[in-house]
Amino acid sequence: MTIRPILIHPDPRLKKLCDPVTELTDELRATAADMLETMYDAPGVGLAAPQVGVMQRMLVMDCIKDPEAKPRPMVLINPEVTWTSDETNTYEEGCLSIPEQYADVTRPAEVKVRWMDLEGAAQEEQFAGLWATCVQHEIDHLNGKLFIDYLTPLKRQLITRKMQKLKREKARL
Ligand SMILES: [Zn+2]
Repeated sequence: MTIRPILIHPDPRLKKLCDPVTELTDELRATAADMLETMYDAPGVGLAAPQVGVMQRMLVMDCIKDPEAKPRPMVLINPEVTWTSDETNTYEEGCLSIPEQYADVTRPAEVKVRWMDLEGAAQEEQFAGLWATCVQHEIDHLNGKLFIDYLTPLKRQLITRKMQKLKREKARL
């Protein structure tokens, strides 16, 4: 397993619609394992394939934050939201592609998601709490959408400029 570099916003690959996965290959399994390792290393609770430059509909997540609790690494292939609650929840979200920037985003409090696992089996689960926020944030990535797209244009611009500056500084190192 390898820790892969995470793309930092702004990057055209973070704005693209990802392709559905059509075949479960060894390469895809290796990508999923790398993505989990990259996510835990960051550390983060979710990571979508386009964030490591893989333009396919796959995401990983583990919202168990208690270090004493058993981890629950999840790999979701071709995830689809099949139901959303009317009730909403506001979370201060962040993103591994937008380091150290956080903002309140309101989303449905609970969602039902259908996906394919790494064995090719169909799965469906209803998520609540941080899991619901995380899975919606990651599915957005597969559609080229970032959490800052929910903010006002002014706030979004401010964060984007900060990221451009960060990238310029990184490039100089
Ligand atoms: Zn993100």
